[in-house]
Amino acid sequence: VVPPYDKNNVFARILRGEMPFEWVYGNQYVMAFRDIAPVAKVHVLVVPRGAYVNYHDFIENAPANEQLGFWKAVDHVARELGLAENGWRMVANTGKDAGQVVPHFHIHILGGEPLGPMDN
Ligand code: 5GP
Repeated sequence: VVPPYDKNNVFARILRGEMPFEWVYGNQYVMAFRDIAPVAKVHVLVVPRGAYVNYHDFIENAPANEQLGFWKAVDHVARELGLAENGWRMVANTGKDAGQVVPHFHIHILGGEPLGPMDN
């Protein structure tokens, strides 16, 4: 079900320090950086340091401490970005129909302005 992990996807390269990125946060479990093509005033990506292709791979295969560390970091980043008061959106594109382009599991944090309803 889960395709093999491509070690040369852009987020793997960012995690290895092989590509420039705009740093937001990092700890033992995650890295967070600005999306290169923001679709909201604040658009940050949170990626686990571990090699997981998509949400299914992450939730089935990542150790529990990595999973908890990841979800806590998403909340921490949203708060650090000042989004807690006015709110924010979390998105995880999964597979073809969702338009997932980077095959390394990640969460989009969107906010900093009213986002409007989700179109689909
Ligand atoms: P998804 O796979 O969830 O559809 O989205 C991948 C996201 O990664 C897109 O929003 C895209 O703009 C962003 N992205 C793609 N390549 C890079 C990159 O090299 N650097 C950064 N910071 N973001 C990227």
